[in-house]
Amino acid sequence: MNTVPTPPSARGPVRTRIAPSPTGFLHLGTARTALYSWAYARHHGGQFVLRIEDTDVARSTQDSVDQIIASMKWLGLDVDEGPIYQMQRLARYHEVAEQLIAAGLAYRCYCTPEELDTMREAQRARGEKTHYDGRWRPEPGKVLPPLPAGVKPVVRFKNPQDGEVTWNDLVKGPITIANREIDDLIILRHPPEDTAADLPEAARTLGVPTYNFAVVVDDWDMRITHVFRGDEHVNNTPWQINIFHAVMSLPQHAGAGAEGRALPQFGHCPIILGDDGLKLSKRRGAVSVTAYDEAGYLPEAMLNYLARLGWSHGDEELFSREQMVQWFDGSHLAKSPAQWDPAKLAWVNGQYMKQADDARLAALLRQQLATRGIADVQGVDLQAASALYKDRCATVAELADWVEMMFVDVQPSVEDLATHVTEPVKPALRALRDRLAEVDWSKPSIAQALKETLAAHALKMPQLAPAVRVLVCGRAQTPSVDAVLALFPREKVLRRLQHV
Ligand code: GLU
Repeated sequence: MNTVPTPPSARGPVRTRIAPSPTGFLHLGTARTALYSWAYARHHGGQFVLRIEDTDVARSTQDSVDQIIASMKWLGLDVDEGPIYQMQRLARYHEVAEQLIAAGLAYRCYCTPEELDTMREAQRARGEKTHYDGRWRPEPGKVLPPLPAGVKPVVRFKNPQDGEVTWNDLVKGPITIANREIDDLIILRHPPEDTAADLPEAARTLGVPTYNFAVVVDDWDMRITHVFRGDEHVNNTPWQINIFHAVMSLPQHAGAGAEGRALPQFGHCPIILGDDGLKLSKRRGAVSVTAYDEAGYLPEAMLNYLARLGWSHGDEELFSREQMVQWFDGSHLAKSPAQWDPAKLAWVNGQYMKQADDARLAALLRQQLATRGIADVQGVDLQAASALYKDRCATVAELADWVEMMFVDVQPSVEDLATHVTEPVKPALRALRDRLAEVDWSKPSIAQALKETLAAHALKMPQLAPAVRVLVCGRAQTPSVDAVLALFPREKVLRRLQHV
């Protein structure tokens, strides 16, 4: 079992966040850590913050922000604060960087990219791991190189050189890294020339914060107590912890309650694997939340499935959002990567489809049909259709597959026609058609017409019903044939039965 988070009473109100970079849609992995962060905050009556990490200006787009927000809304992950945009907080990062420099905890480095390349090449040639050699790192008694003309400096964090960084990861347990393994990280850098033109003046002159710096300033300022994120960030955490300690120690933060404040607790969730055992990626199927919305999955089923993908509560497979909030205390997070299992997701969704309200399904079905070019659904009761078909559908898209046949012409296969629409059955089909032209158009009357036709032609239902289905629905298997026919406009049924 993994580490249980420190109870919130010892740390102030729980505040969690999700901090996506808006360079695409909301990835399933991010949605899952958003869910854990949200559920943990809700479990403790705390707050959940949405922060947009848009410092990669060349790749960040508003369209992506909109998609991320829409996906979070769809999943029902309501935020208490945000979206907060990092690019609107530049002044704050510049301020903290200056304070760190003044306190001797960060410094300006004037190395050119060419110099850094040469440095690394020399290290490689000596068989060393590449690292920043600290040539601009101030030390007592050390003489720094003369300031080169025309080089815009970056700001580096002065990482402690001795000791180690340790934290008790909520998922992985205790982790320790020696400080000598960690470079002096760049915390403010200059944006590439080709993106600089679009940047605010301050970013052009003072630089843009790097991820590990902005994330710490934000987690500190936003009083984040627990960080759940993907384990690609495990290697960043030692830097962040060191920067955190530096930020907390700043004289500017003394008296602001800093003394009583602790670092956030970190929980790094393993990646999600595709069903081929490799990292889930675009090349191996849908990885965006939006794609599942479009494919007709229900948000509560997605939430349930995502929750189980890396967390468990006993053997529970199906649970409501409320139950998850009640149970999610940050423990029982899986240490090993979970595998994305489309069949299980379909099963979970199917369970929710069965319970879903028919009017709600009808509305979703209408949207699905519209995306297939069927905008005019006059004459068909979509709510009744949902009620009839939902038990056998894994998704709203499958529901649409059933209902679509009422709007578009069906093409029975040659095999189905040969097997079911046989010579002995054809007279009965014609007679049925005549009866159906006269009855009042309801399920009981249609059932009665079928019964009378069977009796008159000495046939059994398994002979007549599949033939009717093949002609009217284009397939030999459907729910009860009287119920299926009753959903159609009568004229359409008569027209399709005409072909015998
Ligand atoms: N912007 C980072 C990401 O999307 C956030 C990581 C974090 O939660 O600290 O991976």
